[in-house]
Amino acid sequence: MIDTRILEITAELDTAENIVIVPHKGPDGDAMGSSLGLYHFLKDKGHTVHVISPNDYPHFLKWLPGNEEVIIYESEKEKADKLISEADVVFTLDFNHLSRCGLMQDSLMTSEAVFVMIDHHQEPSDYADYTYSDAKMSSTCEMVYRFIDKLRAGKKITPQIATCLYTGIMTDTGSFRFASTSSDTHRVIADLIDKGAKNDQIHNNIFDTNSQNKLQLLGTALKNLRVNKDLRTAYISLSQEELDQHNFKKGDTEGFVNYGLSLEGIIFAVIFIEKENEDMVKISFRSKGDFDVNKFARAHFDGGGHINAAGGRSDLSLNDTIVKFNRILPEYKEELTK
Ligand code: 5GP
Ligand code: MN
Repeated sequence: MIDTRILEITAELDTAENIVIVPHKGPDGDAMGSSLGLYHFLKDKGHTVHVISPNDYPHFLKWLPGNEEVIIYESEKEKADKLISEADVVFTLDFNHLSRCGLMQDSLMTSEAVFVMIDHHQEPSDYADYTYSDAKMSSTCEMVYRFIDKLRAGKKITPQIATCLYTGIMTDTGSFRFASTSSDTHRVIADLIDKGAKNDQIHNNIFDTNSQNKLQLLGTALKNLRVNKDLRTAYISLSQEELDQHNFKKGDTEGFVNYGLSLEGIIFAVIFIEKENEDMVKISFRSKGDFDVNKFARAHFDGGGHINAAGGRSDLSLNDTIVKFNRILPEYKEELTK
């Protein structure tokens, strides 16, 4: 669609004064990178732009250019609702269903703004006036780069924009190693470096700013690792008590689930994290190859995502969630062992 309707979007943008950009709840590097990359681009064009995140996000993203301008919906609801009601255009980035922005959903649903979705998750719902959806893309950041390119504005990519977009491509591709990393992704990355993204500094800001508590929490997570060799599956759990012992901060468990996949022969890895204050267990699923964790998360754990990375939740206790998981797993024997 984006190719055939880019002129319409250009016309909408020409008359738009107020623009709101929304990433998904629990924003990751791609959600924040794409939101802030687009923020700088549209602001430089002369629009009044606000990024409104449904909730807070991890410390390792708080250096991104424009971070101090981000409004957190959960803590500034009134101000955010006003901005949403006054918006001419709303961009929703890195999610495929309005329910992914939590409490903000109601306010967005009553907005009369023109909605533009840019997203790389499967099965987009159809709330937007313009839907740029492509599940083959490495990241929403790569799509924002292409969006800017289609507006014939590639020359307008500043070092700030390049830094934001580089960050999200790097985090969503596991530092350029997942199958979603195409030769075109590398061409985009090369151009972003040319335009001022400092790859070494960005990597350092994201990956080398751990706290001692986080590393020791990783130690606990790895001690809790369980392996089902026959079904090529590994899972980790973290209880609320274990999180508390290590003074858990948002983002501290980022990437833990991938350790299961680093085991030889394992193609399906899961982490279960008890969230006592939300009365649920948050689950992350990762896979290698054809095993579709998006399908698995949708079918059993009220979630979704991509083929190789998805999330979900459970209202059962941590133990009962793991029991449920182990009961379901054998149903997938054929797909896991083929
Ligand atoms: P993570 O495990 O890192 O939280 O998420 C992995 C992928 O699954 C991301 O693309 C994320 O957007 C998606 N995802 C995570 N949790 C949920 C969920 O509860 N519902 C849906 N539909 N997608 C999710
Ligand atoms: Mn993404």
